[in-house]
Amino acid sequence: MYLPIDFTTYQAAPKLLENRVVLVTGAGDGIGRAAALAYAKHGAIVLLLGRTLSKLEAVYDEIERQGGAQPALLPLNLANAKLDDYLSILRTIETKVGRLDGILHNAAILGSMSSLEDYDPEIWDEVMNVNLRAPLRLTQALLPLLSQSPDASVIFTTSSVGRRVRPMWGAYAISKQGVEGLSSLFAEELAGSNIRFNCLNPGGTRTQMRASAFPNENPENLPKPENIMPAYLYLMGGDSQGITGQSLDVPRVEWA
Ligand code: NDP
Repeated sequence: MYLPIDFTTYQAAPKLLENRVVLVTGAGDGIGRAAALAYAKHGAIVLLLGRTLSKLEAVYDEIERQGGAQPALLPLNLANAKLDDYLSILRTIETKVGRLDGILHNAAILGSMSSLEDYDPEIWDEVMNVNLRAPLRLTQALLPLLSQSPDASVIFTTSSVGRRVRPMWGAYAISKQGVEGLSSLFAEELAGSNIRFNCLNPGGTRTQMRASAFPNENPENLPKPENIMPAYLYLMGGDSQGITGQSLDVPRVEWA
């Protein structure tokens, strides 16, 4: 289902996320980086979670350059994060900013393009840890803070293979199917609460991951992460109040 907005004309209000605190995973690169910058530009205090500190620092500097509120760095490798790491993030947010209004679960890895028959078990576990276990654990750990927000939004990032599996997409496809289930289940179990849970499929976007998955594709034919930010802003901000338990696609339009 496409987002229920006219993507070509939707303009997020400049202060859409003012006074909100939003955590973005995989904030150092690709779509996560663009989302962190867009959220900060629209007034949010952004918590930058990722595995490569230097990339997070570069995003931090960029947010400061564009005049955004001071972000926070949360370096964490989601492939081997433990319960204590998630609880420590909860304590850090409680101490440093005292509130949380949204999470964009964006970090993911592709794993290997291989049949299930031959799939490497270590790569399988790593993909599951980053793409599926981490969004669950992080959401669980941060629910106490989200539940105090007047209007919280949790966005899980899905993919077309999260709706319909495709041969050779292995752990990535299964992890995204799991993410779809996770989002639906949170939405159903917390229906009527102040927190909404939705899946968002960015569709083909010009990033490292896309280039690895489709090495023969011309990236010039794909939108850049910045082009698809209206969808990420809409779902994170108050304009999407009341939408929960949905799996939405970024509409495809012509990219200049
Ligand atoms: P990129 O590979 O460009 O970026 C992924 C981000 O996740 C990076 O910042 C990366 O950090 C971070 N990350 C990876 N592993 C870990 C880890 N173990 N711990 C913490 N952070 C980690 O991917 P995209 O921007 O393309 O993808 C973003 C999301 O969109 C993903 O969920 C992907 O599945 C989804 N998606 C993307 C599509 C596309 O065409 N691009 C299409 C459909 C879905 P680092 O830079 O340090 O490695």
